[in-house]
Amino acid sequence: MIGTNSQIDLPEPSPDLTRFRNRLSAGRLSFQRCDECHDAWLPPRDHCPHCLSPAFTWEDASGRARVVSWVVYHRAFHPAFADRVPYNVTVVELAEGPRLISNVVGISAADGLAIDTPLALAVETEGDVPVARFRLS
Ligand SMILES: [Zn+2]
Repeated sequence: MIGTNSQIDLPEPSPDLTRFRNRLSAGRLSFQRCDECHDAWLPPRDHCPHCLSPAFTWEDASGRARVVSWVVYHRAFHPAFADRVPYNVTVVELAEGPRLISNVVGISAADGLAIDTPLALAVETEGDVPVARFRLS
């Protein structure tokens, strides 16, 4: 079965992604930390991307983060995003270490973004799917 997100067909989520989304819907951004090498990562997966161990522990992020890098899309990546251009796609590093690709919302394009700009988690939804986005803090 394919889940739908208003205009975008999404694959059926894995058990780890389902857990991640359920916690995010409750306002908690969680990530996984390897029990063997202690690497931490996002997005959810069933093994450590560093040492491939299947043993990990979930942790909740504080929601504090910083800008690592960004680009501004002037042409929509998907027709569902056509009314959003220009928008930023930003590499965000959580205070706890994991990085994720996200968007900084509440600004026009990339106004106010710089390397190390402090950010705060802003959970939004696309259809019925929670999405971890960020605001300037
Ligand atoms: Zn590991």
